[in-house]
Amino acid sequence: MAVPAPLIDRHGRAIDYLRVSVTDRCDLRCRYCMAEEMRFLPREAIMDLDEIAVIAEHFIARGVRRVRLSGGEPLVRRGVTGLARRLGGQIGAGLDELTLTTNGTRLATHARDLADAGIRRVNVSLDSRDPATFRHITRHGDVGQVLDGIAAARAAGLAIKINMVALAGLNEHEIAPMLAWCGEQGFDLSLIETMPLGQVDEDRADRFVPLTRIFDRLSARHALVRDLHRTGGPARYWRTPWGTRLGLISPLTANFCDGCNRVRLTTEGKLYMCLGHDDQVDLRAALREGGTAALDAAIDAALVAKPARHAFAIAPGAAPAVARHMNVTGG
Ligand code: SAM
Repeated sequence: MAVPAPLIDRHGRAIDYLRVSVTDRCDLRCRYCMAEEMRFLPREAIMDLDEIAVIAEHFIARGVRRVRLSGGEPLVRRGVTGLARRLGGQIGAGLDELTLTTNGTRLATHARDLADAGIRRVNVSLDSRDPATFRHITRHGDVGQVLDGIAAARAAGLAIKINMVALAGLNEHEIAPMLAWCGEQGFDLSLIETMPLGQVDEDRADRFVPLTRIFDRLSARHALVRDLHRTGGPARYWRTPWGTRLGLISPLTANFCDGCNRVRLTTEGKLYMCLGHDDQVDLRAALREGGTAALDAAIDAALVAKPARHAFAIAPGAAPAVARHMNVTGG
């Protein structure tokens, strides 16, 4: 049987990273991510977990070495640890790493199963450690649940990276203490600029904080040493005095699309080649209609269509760059 070609897009970028949104649903409603009233996909529109696994395995066969499960909130989908076990079985057989991004509310229940599945690190979103601020940002979340989840993940042996979206007037003052807390706990911290994805109930321009501003403040206080670690994403990294890593994900103030190595599969089976564009290819339809040969052809068409870069901008009153919210394409 012919070996399918590796995944190289028309800009010469090798694609070896797949993000999978296993559900668009979430148990939180972070203000910068979602509107309070969200309409989620009807159950019949979402792929079953077997179909997701088949597509992900096909990507691994074509050279994807890292898979991240995301959402929505991946841990609200029943059976997701079974999917993790199945994909975890590919580690060492093509796959280097399986990871998960979670809001942490259900980590206390699932951390051990995730570790048993072969996951070694998780990203946990934590925009504030203050209970009232956390509740406000998430609209109803309980930070205690997330901290318990983080503790359970650590007890299960998982390495932890905290994701924090910088929000003017909400958590900007907590960023320096969060860096110190993460350092003391041995957690990496990634700071994220709010991105113009999907209509929310506030104007994102009011909350946008350029990470250049944050970095200037942090580096005035701490010796931060540039770390050339790259993941092919929009992040740049520094070593902190605690030996942990600080990542800045700054798609608005510093563009790194030239090294982009990833594509994103939605729970409906659509492959988005760029977070900042609407172009997508329907892999589920291809698989159902023509099996793996059609799936390969659809993936090849997606690679040709992968844009050179996004064109995010945030301006007062401006419509979001793309209509879909982050939960569709999985962060
Ligand atoms: N529910 C999981 C979680 O909370 O981590 C996974 C999905 S969530 C969409 C993934 C990441 O995207 C989170 O760190 C979240 O804070 C971030 N995010 C969501 N909407 C965003 C936006 N508009 N701009 C920047 N980051 C966003």
